[in-house]
Amino acid sequence: MAIIPFDDRDGFIWVNGAMVEWRKAQTHILTHGLHYGSSVFEGERCYAGKIFKSHEHNVRFHQSAEILGFTIPYALEELEQAKYDVLKANNITEGYLRPVAFRGSEMMAISAQHNKIHVAIAAWEWPSMYSLEAKMKGIRLGLAPYNRPSPETAPVASKAAGLYMICTISKHAVEREGFDDALMLDYRGYLAEATGANLFLVIDGEIHTPLPDAFLNGITRQTIIALAKARGLVVHERHIKPEELARVQEVFLTGTAAEITPVSEIAGQKFTPAAITKSLIEDYTAATRAHVKQSAA
Ligand code: PMP
Repeated sequence: MAIIPFDDRDGFIWVNGAMVEWRKAQTHILTHGLHYGSSVFEGERCYAGKIFKSHEHNVRFHQSAEILGFTIPYALEELEQAKYDVLKANNITEGYLRPVAFRGSEMMAISAQHNKIHVAIAAWEWPSMYSLEAKMKGIRLGLAPYNRPSPETAPVASKAAGLYMICTISKHAVEREGFDDALMLDYRGYLAEATGANLFLVIDGEIHTPLPDAFLNGITRQTIIALAKARGLVVHERHIKPEELARVQEVFLTGTAAEITPVSEIAGQKFTPAAITKSLIEDYTAATRAHVKQSAA
């Protein structure tokens, strides 16, 4: 399939309060967010016309900016309206939304006290691509060359663009070795997460997931923990050492884009995605489409 560049598509992008023709949604080269990483973003999915956990994403978007020291100049309700306006303008019911907020061009130095805060929201179609059977084969993770930094070193709770620098380097490094994604440890050597998704392990029928004290506490992660508990599964949030992978039966990743992605290998160690992963995929699919069932009832 030919790749359609993201700057050369039909449609509309919401930029600073106005709907702008897709190809004209541009920013100047001398933009603080581009030079100094003063940018935060969200990744959201819309299922059958409804944005899943939309409010939670709006709140995190605001918090990510506050952590970097700036305020998004649109209230939560305004963001909510803008997201649905974008979906409507592009006629999307199964898709991905990408809000982004960044410092503009008024000052071009480390200090940027007076820079305007720009906010944009794009959306594109993104139906689920793989059948459950194909998904259950699992992806292969290599070990990332970078660790997640300590909260004293980086604003780890913000979905800040700058934190993804080490993710892209790590993902490229393992892709060169034939892996699908990279597993990152944290600054202490504990298991952390993949480059854009959280990590879950199944050990003897119970769920174990790393404590999110050095990386994003994903909205999907929180949803999966709730779904697992609702199923009566025991969930442990704790520091997990890489050596513990030896006693793990199932591994999966969670994230808005990844949804639940089963993992079949971590750097040579093999796992077989099985019943618990499968049942949580079913629960997650049902949760994202709960409004469809309700309206049909
Ligand atoms: N960690 C990282 C680094 C991510 O980019 C994402 C995706 N936003 C996640 C975890 C999962 O977060 P969520 O479930 O909120 O999408």
